Amino acid sequence: MIDIARNIQLIQERIEKAAAACGRPAGEIMLLPITKTHPVESISRAIAAGLRRFGENRVQEAESKIRQFSDTGNLEWHLVGHLQSNKARTAAALFDVVHSLDSIKLALKLNEAGLACNKILSVLLQVDLGQEATKFGADVDQVREIVAAVSELKGIKLNGLMTIPPFFDNAEQARPFFMRLRELSSILESEKPGCLGQRHLSMGMSHDFEVAIQEGSTIVRIGTAIFGERQYGRT
Ligand SMILES: *Cc1c(COP(=O)(O)O)cnc(C)c1O
Repeated sequence: MIDIARNIQLIQERIEKAAAACGRPAGEIMLLPITKTHPVESISRAIAAGLRRFGENRVQEAESKIRQFSDTGNLEWHLVGHLQSNKARTAAALFDVVHSLDSIKLALKLNEAGLACNKILSVLLQVDLGQEATKFGADVDQVREIVAAVSELKGIKLNGLMTIPPFFDNAEQARPFFMRLRELSSILESEKPGCLGQRHLSMGMSHDFEVAIQEGSTIVRIGTAIFGERQYGRT
């Protein structure tokens, strides 16, 4: 059986080591365990090991899981997968942070939903730096327009950028993508100070998070290295 508590400890040690190696305080790097396809028992074990934030990638799957933890106080839920506008209302009610804002249309829907449930939903703008037609995320040339539009809205708050580079066997090959996200963040902040709120950079997954930390990641999204391989047939 997978030892989730042990895996969490190992990942935390690797985060600390990677941060120390580039002179960053480990405390500014948030570990976001990604629990998609994994059962609620896995989430319970991660909670027992001290984790409080979790990421899911599909609204429907997350909805039933989150409901099962409604009595567990103090949890924070992040949506990291693509969000269709017609699910914005459900997403805004369930999640504390949405990492996958990628259009003005979705921003308007989330804003409406945020206002309707009386909260300011934290969002990250997902940027597609891979230029692959299959990938979600806003193109770089749309980013300014989306940032400007979101800054007018009261039901959502932009707190940074997110990206998913193409998969490379060698994590070093992901580095240019992480670098570009950090540079984009700096450029946007210099053009319009404060426009990225907490200035999160949500980047890095199980196989490349150490490189992402070297390039400035503040949120690493880790699934497999904590919970084991996903078995897609079972969900
Ligand atoms: C599944 C997923 C992750 C975690 O991936 P691992 O390789 O299992 O660590 C991170 N980010 C997003 C957006 C995901 O969908």
